[in-house]
Amino acid sequence: MKQVHVVPHMHWDREWYFSTEESRILLVNNMEEIMERLENDPDYPYYVLDGQTSILEDYFAVKPEAKERVRNLVQAGKLIIGPWYTQTDEMVVGSESIVRNLLYGIKDSKEFGQPMMIGYLPDSFGQSAQMPHILNGFDIKYTIFWRGTSERHGTDKTEFYWQTEDGSRVLVQLLPLGYAIGKYLPQEEDALKERMEKYFPVLERGTTTDHLVLPNGHDQMPIQKDIFEVMKRLKELYPDREFFLSNYEKVFEEVEKQDDLAVLEGEFLDGKYMRVHRSIYSTRMDIKAANARVENKLTNVLEPLASMAYDLGFEYHHGLIELIWKEMMKNHAHDSIGCCCSDKVHREIAGRLFLAEEKTDQLIDFYKRKIVDAIETKEDSDRLTLFNFLPYQREEVVTTELITKYKGFTLVDAGGEEVDYEILHAEEIDPGLIDRQIVHYGNYDPFIKYEIQLKETLPPMGYTTFFVKEAEEKTAGSQSVNSVETDYYQVDVNENGTLKIYDKQLDQSFDQVLLLENGGDDGDEYDYSPLEGEELIYSDKVKASVSMKQNSYAAHIDISYSLRVPAHLEARKAGKHNSKVNVHFKVNVDHHKPLIKVECELHNEAKDHRLRAYIPTGLSASFSIADNQFGHVKRKVVDSAMDVWEEEKWSERPDAIYPMLSYVGLSSEDYGLSVFTNSTREYEIVGDEFDTIAITLFRSVGYLGKADMLKTWTSIRN
Ligand SMILES: [Zn+2]
Repeated sequence: MKQVHVVPHMHWDREWYFSTEESRILLVNNMEEIMERLENDPDYPYYVLDGQTSILEDYFAVKPEAKERVRNLVQAGKLIIGPWYTQTDEMVVGSESIVRNLLYGIKDSKEFGQPMMIGYLPDSFGQSAQMPHILNGFDIKYTIFWRGTSERHGTDKTEFYWQTEDGSRVLVQLLPLGYAIGKYLPQEEDALKERMEKYFPVLERGTTTDHLVLPNGHDQMPIQKDIFEVMKRLKELYPDREFFLSNYEKVFEEVEKQDDLAVLEGEFLDGKYMRVHRSIYSTRMDIKAANARVENKLTNVLEPLASMAYDLGFEYHHGLIELIWKEMMKNHAHDSIGCCCSDKVHREIAGRLFLAEEKTDQLIDFYKRKIVDAIETKEDSDRLTLFNFLPYQREEVVTTELITKYKGFTLVDAGGEEVDYEILHAEEIDPGLIDRQIVHYGNYDPFIKYEIQLKETLPPMGYTTFFVKEAEEKTAGSQSVNSVETDYYQVDVNENGTLKIYDKQLDQSFDQVLLLENGGDDGDEYDYSPLEGEELIYSDKVKASVSMKQNSYAAHIDISYSLRVPAHLEARKAGKHNSKVNVHFKVNVDHHKPLIKVECELHNEAKDHRLRAYIPTGLSASFSIADNQFGHVKRKVVDSAMDVWEEEKWSERPDAIYPMLSYVGLSSEDYGLSVFTNSTREYEIVGDEFDTIAITLFRSVGYLGKADMLKTWTSIRN
């Protein structure tokens, strides 16, 4: 007999087109109804709280007195909480972010009882290949999800094992029709039958067991009070099936008995049966870029610095750091970081990023001061300390700021040796901004803020300190040049602001590097959608203003221009370039490294378009390699489903627009070329030969969700 597990739950998007404040009002209501039922109805056994503890945090913020009730229900195994903090995205959220989401979710759960040890992510827009690895790290052996799968991954079944290269493995229960097929189940016979006839065949086709999962819940849905009446009706309609309230652990107890399940690997990012939004990675680039920047600062600077400080005897501020992570992880919920939200919600997301970054910056500053102040020395002069948070020794050209009252100074190392440096820039600043005791000391002499550059070898996971001593004034060492030459490259700038790079090791030139591509975006916050038959605009004809400077350590190139683009879709269709994007590239090349650093500042005045930068590689590639959480993923430059998606009626056109976390590269047997980013996390491999890495700089759209997108997709293909 087929067993149907009816699992009561609610999916909780903390924010989406509505704000967290709006959903909190519903939450307070829903929680009371859920707890009341669980406490008073012995036949109502379970309720799954969406696998995330931020719901509880939001609830306790206004109902702290409910903690004891929640604790009793969790310990009785009735209210099922955790293991996540929020319903995280898996595509543009960093490695540590996903780990912390589990870490803090499990920690918060344990205040009340055991969390549900299932990596439940029912709505995330695609599944990262590394999830089994991360889940196993927390001893989690099961997971449930919906989006991104299709039979081309190796099975058409809804239960399978999913593993990673390191041997980690989880058992998957797919929700092939999502988490809401049992939302507001009707009592009325015809309606109920109609619903079930639609879903049962799909569930039965997919399952390897006699057990079907019917999640009874939906986004922000209150508890279904008449569920027993509905189940009675279901039993009458389907006498050969058993219906009962259940939970996901019970489902896995059954699935685990199967011994012939498929074993799959890799990411799930197919938009065949459901949408995965393969171009959501560039929606609201301001927010996406800030997230990447703060994640990197938090994990690559603040946390190693705090560990270093702890090692030196200072307190590790767990509470402050948890507060930063929680601001970030609220933003990592799939809709929030997807930025498929209303503008007021985006303002709140940006606000949390501001708070997270401000806390991070201030704590970095605090720890650096603690460490530098504690350095024992006989010198009483000011100190400049350089930190290295990587586990190996590095030789680096360092550009830094130094604020002093000296008109000239030398830098002296611990052994009393003078160190070379060059001044890039100097300006006087208001002493009141620097010295809080200025009135007390009565010294109003100006401070000078120097931007200096030096080359130094830094110890692994350590620091080097120099003493600042007054000396003769020094003049700036940079010289204007027409062409930059370093140990690895000769870099020239074309009239249109693109770079021409000659690579000395390869004896090969790369031209038109950083050419910009501009096209219309008729899509919405979920998906990019090109304009039918449009001609793309390139920056090949612009006249850039360029300055190039070089000193004994590095070269600096400044490129700026204005790219004329249509103001909106109508102007684009009419071929009018009546608006612009102001572009400013700052390119830095250290002499001793095969690395070209590019900063890009954009001021966009136009609507409904997408801007990408091209990095030609000279490699005709069939695969790209990009990083995901704690690993990398190899993807074909063209998704083979492009040939069949219309015939097979995919929910989305499978463009090869993909996410990365910090790099994407192409390679051959001879060489490789990679682009590293600390902002955008979206790329596509383009060009007739698939030899060019296109990095999305931003896209701008005016709609949260557009109904006729699919038609748009289709018309493009025709
Ligand atoms: Zn959702």
